[in-house]
This record gives sequence, structure tokens and C-alpha cells, in this order.
Amino acid sequence: MNNGLILLIEDEAALRKNIAEIIEHYGFRVMSASTGEEGIKLAEEFIPDIIISDIMLPGIDGFEMFGRVKQLPQLKRTAFIFLTAKSTRSDARAGMNMGADDYLTKPFTKEELINSVRTRFEKLSKLNEHQLENNELIDATSNNLSSLTKTEHKVLNEISEGRTTPQIAQKLFVSKKTIENHRVNISRKLDLSGPNSLIKFALRLKTRKPSRSPSDDTISSSSIQKK
Ligand code: CA
Repeated sequence: MNNGLILLIEDEAALRKNIAEIIEHYGFRVMSASTGEEGIKLAEEFIPDIIISDIMLPGIDGFEMFGRVKQLPQLKRTAFIFLTAKSTRSDARAGMNMGADDYLTKPFTKEELINSVRTRFEKLSKLNEHQLENNELIDATSNNLSSLTKTEHKVLNEISEGRTTPQIAQKLFVSKKTIENHRVNISRKLDLSGPNSLIKFALRLKTRKPSRSPSDDTISSSSIQKK
């Protein structure tokens, strides 16, 4: 899996340039920053697959940057590789304990760098496969749609349009409590559990093409597409 995006945070200009060149040479895209603050900004905006960061940085250090970036939900899956001087090896272990994925002790070879990067990407693509399996699960769930009542379909449709419970209640001229009950029933019928799983399902349903046409008087997923 090439063409992944790597964010490199290193304050030593020569080393930064050198690492960036190696990474690019192997087909990855790289974006560089010289401080942790700058790195956080780039990470927030571009959502890299991997962040490679020196620990010793001017301003906030690699650990603090890591701690802050880990709090951003869109970067939950971003992998971290720390760069460390020999004298800070114990620091690197501390970083691993914090949840970093790997560390490279300076000076490291081109092979060590690329191997570490490739391992991270392989793990990320396994995660993607897992995601695909989840999509199949959603397809299976879609087949239970015929068990929903007309009103439940309406509610599901409104959810897929991004409306909240109070908004749906207002639109369908019923109480919020009624909509909440519908949501519970829909989730139960579709076997959805966990936070926001109904919303996620509804949104995915909206973007999905209807896989079959209605065969009887029950409403199939295609009715959700039309609105
Ligand atoms: Ca440094």
C-alpha cells in the first residue's frame, strides 16, 4: 500500500530533508514540520496515516505532540513512530508505553526506516480489511429492513438525512419520546448496538445503491434512497 501520507516532524533541517527524500523515494507521500505545534496543525488538516516525530523538539516535545494528536478523533488510526537519540532510549520506551507504534534510534539506516514504515502500512491495511468486513455486516443488516413498519422507515429515512430526534419529532408531529421509542425499536430489529450505530447505519444506507427491488408490500431499502 503505497502513496500513504506520512507526516515527518524533525527540527534538524538536514536530517528532515534526508528522511523525507528516502520516504518519497519508496513511493510514499511526505509532509514535513520542524516543530510539534506545526506538526499538530498539519496533522489536523491532512490526517496522515503515519506520523514520524523526533522526541526532542523546540517548544512542545514529541511526547506532548503525541498526547495532543491522540485526542483528535480523526487521527485515531494514525500510527506513530518516534525518532530518538541513543541517550533517550528509555524515553522511547516511555513513548511506546503511551501507545506509540514504534521507535527508531538515531542514527538509523534507510532499511530500518523503510521497514518500520512498511510494517505500519501493512497493519493499517489489515485494519481496512476489517472495515470491509464491517460493511458486509451492514449489508446483512439491510436485509432486515423489511421487518420495519412504515413509520419506522420514515424515522430511519429522517435519520439518514441527518435530522436529530427533536427535528424528526417536529416534522412527523409526534413527541420526542415517540421518536426515541422508534429509534430503540429500529435498532433492535436491525440488531444494531453501540453508540451512534443507528446513525452510522442510516447514513451508509443513504449512500448505498438499492440492491434489490421491493418484492411485496413491505418497504425495502430503495424507498430510503428516493427522498
Ligand atoms: Ca531534535
